[in-house]
Amino acid sequence: MSVEIFVTDKAGLQKFYEAVIAKNETYAPVEKFGKYDFKRVTSLSTCNPDSPIAKTMSAKPLFFPRSAKIMKYTATSAGTDVMETDEDPLAGKRVIIGMKHCDARSLQVLDKVYNWDFIDTDYQKRRQNTIIISTRCDKAEIHCFCTSLDYDVENLDALDILIVNGKDEKIYINARTEKGGSFLKEYIAGLTSANGAADGELKQQYNAFAASFRLKMNYKEVNEKLAKIFDTPEFENVSANCVSCNTCAFVCPTCHCFKISDEKVRDTGVRYKSYDSCNNGYFTLMAGGHNPRPAKYRRWRQRAMHKFVYYKERFGENLCVGCGKCTTSCPVNISIFEVVNQVAQ
Ligand code: SF4
Ligand code: SF4
Repeated sequence: MSVEIFVTDKAGLQKFYEAVIAKNETYAPVEKFGKYDFKRVTSLSTCNPDSPIAKTMSAKPLFFPRSAKIMKYTATSAGTDVMETDEDPLAGKRVIIGMKHCDARSLQVLDKVYNWDFIDTDYQKRRQNTIIISTRCDKAEIHCFCTSLDYDVENLDALDILIVNGKDEKIYINARTEKGGSFLKEYIAGLTSANGAADGELKQQYNAFAASFRLKMNYKEVNEKLAKIFDTPEFENVSANCVSCNTCAFVCPTCHCFKISDEKVRDTGVRYKSYDSCNNGYFTLMAGGHNPRPAKYRRWRQRAMHKFVYYKERFGENLCVGCGKCTTSCPVNISIFEVVNQVAQ
């Protein structure tokens, strides 16, 4: 891991962002209707790299689009012709700024499944072609629990360049990967090296951040207990209010279920790959009519077990980064933190 650290101030950071935006295809949180979503930006004035986490959507759609055309076709009595879509599924070189560290970490979790039995080359190219610039939070939001999970938030290498607020309005710009170090070289004019000198302040900032969490979980205990209680009726209690809207999965940076659907008008059709969720009643509905998860408690059990038991068993990591986005967005206030802890206890 590169340990290049530079120190600047608010004006210096703005200049850095402006230079990055001017030279690169850049994506950043853009406000719309009080929420932030990652969009292509050409000016710092149109985005907010310090957007609040509770109001910021995940950057996952830049790697796994919400709904993407995967092919077009014509089907007539003379036969079927398949065509490429007019969308370019592969992003060129690009930079994301303002991505939260839990969101960046979620990509390392997703890498496991996308490099598993089927190699998703579109996803891989997007990953390889992206530089991630992430701001470390100063304070946990009400539903955050990233520091309780199985990754080292303080020394995260899921992001290429880390921005940290220091004391006396100092701001540190820290290259965390070789890719980040090479990228940063182009922008160091005007920045002052702080290698070694910043360690104490970075530690202090992290300790203050870590102390701000309301939620704390013993994830190992949750992993072990959930694995042994598949048949507990408690899943019915915790899922009683769920309206199966799927919002929790759609906003989650680690959920990766999708459906394939065709939209055909007369002879011409488009095939889409779109987000889906195991909370959907029809998600496991089979062609013959059988549905192994007809009850929502079974679907919620699948969601909890997939995140805290099955993924862990298969890939060694929880399928949850503790960002709290699902809880923030749930229309009936269901919290995955409470679900897995309540069931485990
Ligand atoms: S399950 Fe909830 S807390 Fe966990 S990563 Fe997904 S949105 Fe974040
Ligand atoms: S967002 Fe809430 S109500 Fe909707 S599916 Fe998820 S838990 Fe159920």
